[in-house]
Amino acid sequence: MKRPGIIKAVLVVLFLAFLVQGGLRLYRHRHFEVPVVAGPGVTRAARLSDFGPGLKGTMADAPVYFLDGKEPGGKAILIANTHANEPEGLLAALLILENALVDKGSLIVIPQFNRSAGRNTRPGDGYPLYYEIPTDWGQKKFRMGNRDASPLDQWPDPDVYIHYPDRQLLSYIDVRNVNRTWPGRPNGPLMEKVTFAAMEIMRGQKVDVAIDIHGAETMFPVTNCIVAPDKSNRIATMAALTVKAKEGFDSHVEPSPTGFRGLSHREIGDFSDTLPFLLEAPIPFLDQPTGPKTVKFLLDGKDPFLLSLSQKKKLFVPYDASGWPLEKRVGQHCSVILEILRQYSKKYPDRAILVRDIPRYAEIVQNGVGHYFHDPSRAEKEKVFLD
Ligand SMILES: [Zn+2]
Repeated sequence: MKRPGIIKAVLVVLFLAFLVQGGLRLYRHRHFEVPVVAGPGVTRAARLSDFGPGLKGTMADAPVYFLDGKEPGGKAILIANTHANEPEGLLAALLILENALVDKGSLIVIPQFNRSAGRNTRPGDGYPLYYEIPTDWGQKKFRMGNRDASPLDQWPDPDVYIHYPDRQLLSYIDVRNVNRTWPGRPNGPLMEKVTFAAMEIMRGQKVDVAIDIHGAETMFPVTNCIVAPDKSNRIATMAALTVKAKEGFDSHVEPSPTGFRGLSHREIGDFSDTLPFLLEAPIPFLDQPTGPKTVKFLLDGKDPFLLSLSQKKKLFVPYDASGWPLEKRVGQHCSVILEILRQYSKKYPDRAILVRDIPRYAEIVQNGVGHYFHDPSRAEKEKVFLD
């Protein structure tokens, strides 16, 4: 073989080696499954496709867990991983799923609402593929996902996403953002099928309260807050005032804009009798002007660039050298959820949703998030779900 031929052959082999090496890591990430130990309150496990058959056999067919109390009452649905790069939502939902007991009414938990986004990555921004949380029995490993569903599951993207049914023009990428595709339709793009299935649960089961759990940048004005439309505003305000007075943290109320379509806090309220709430906790990792996107930063929220920006009053939340650790973010979510349920139950006693054994802010800050996760290797087999 002549010299140029040998060089070409070596380059082809090198190219294939890089392709396989990089591709395998992404393949393993997409198929990595997190064990979830169903807690004592879980009475039934289903999937979104049980309510929206168009999802059957797709990567978007997420598990749905029911925690039915002995006494009938109201119903609340908790939705997390709408954006799978905001772990505080997922971890709060899993912590509730693994521990909560329901005395009256029902809780419905969808911990990985955008199941496809939980299997998508963001290598261009240097995101880690996984993160680990220390627990009392070892490290618990989770996939780090992305904001949008994977193009492997929903493709191609349109030039512009035309929201259904409002026909508002949204960015092309929003067709894969499940917080722009509410209220969905049974035969739309995959993410519209996801929101449609959730709407079917809410309408069919007569769900009273829907809570969509997120994290938001510290430089984004809608952060550290409860987003609520008019119909949910009173309960959101009472919850915000109570956590501030009793637990000492801020989570103010932001009105849900009426002219911006596709969002859970807007469409759930407009297309069902359910009262929607969207919770945001500050996640410094998602801000743009920061240092490297390491797992440590994801978990502790400490960054020198944000610290300097905070001194220049560029952030929408107080920020100091202690960062904004995961325990605080998950703790806030658990306390705000408990408070919304309590306020709702007080206002509508015959539709009360009474839950217990969910830790509050101070306990989670003190004990860490991992303390509340159970060891799947020591749990009864039928209680362990992989996703
Ligand atoms: Zn979000």
